[in-house]
Amino acid sequence: MRMILLGPPGAGKGTQAKSISNKFSIPHISTGDIFRKNISEKTPLGIEAKKHIDKGHLVPDKLTIDIIKDRLNNEDCKNGFLLDGYPRTVNQGEALKALLEEDGNSLDIALLIKVPRKFILNRMTGRRVCLSCGASYHITFNPSKVEGKCDVCGCDLVQRADDTEDTVNERIDVYEAQTQPLIKYYDDKNLLSAVDGTLEINEVFESICGILESIKK
Ligand code: ADP
Ligand code: ADP
Ligand code: ZN
Repeated sequence: MRMILLGPPGAGKGTQAKSISNKFSIPHISTGDIFRKNISEKTPLGIEAKKHIDKGHLVPDKLTIDIIKDRLNNEDCKNGFLLDGYPRTVNQGEALKALLEEDGNSLDIALLIKVPRKFILNRMTGRRVCLSCGASYHITFNPSKVEGKCDVCGCDLVQRADDTEDTVNERIDVYEAQTQPLIKYYDDKNLLSAVDGTLEINEVFESICGILESIKK
């Protein structure tokens, strides 16, 4: 299965992606996680990406598309993948389509997690993440078993530098201007399905599984 997740920052893409990846045995690829890893290792890519991420802006398409091309060429993506946070512009969507077509493949589904703006700030400011495995928690809605430690790998949980109120508001504006057009883009291609992301985490996962079982390849 080749799928992408769409939705505003804080919709629950990363949270659901972990469960989908486990259940359907497809690699979870998060451009945000790739950027954060590069930032923590101070690579040239990380240094460049940080300038944009800290302001709540998108990393330029050229850089982002090159990363995805490289990642999707890996052997583990041959039978499917789950993209979380890519594409974020129609240009990135077009690049993905072209890349898949080179191998005679195409996307199976674009899954939108719908969450209205008023829910987002609370989710983002209470978010805590594991920089080692990418797991995402919430101090109230999804706390880790041991405070400050990742359930999966035991590493320290941190608050992301871009999860402050000002940056979150900027990111939502960027989402509405640059990423939301992808909803129509995939709907026009009959690839769009949507779930209500305001439900509890396990309820959202159940709705997603219902949709994925019906298109499973
Ligand atoms: P995204 O990857 O879309 O930005 P995350 O999966 O990191 O979103 O979730 C954002 C925050 O909201 C995290 O703190 C997460 O624990 C919490 N969260 C995710 N899904 C839900 C949900 N259905 N209800 C309440 N909180 C949620
Ligand atoms: P969130 O979980 O809040 O949706 P991500 O972890 O997916 O955020 O991304 C964090 C930041 O990394 C984004 O605000 C953006 O600056 C950058 N980024 C991630 N994916 C992309 C992309 N596909 N194109 C451009 N920038 C991206
Ligand atoms: Zn972890």
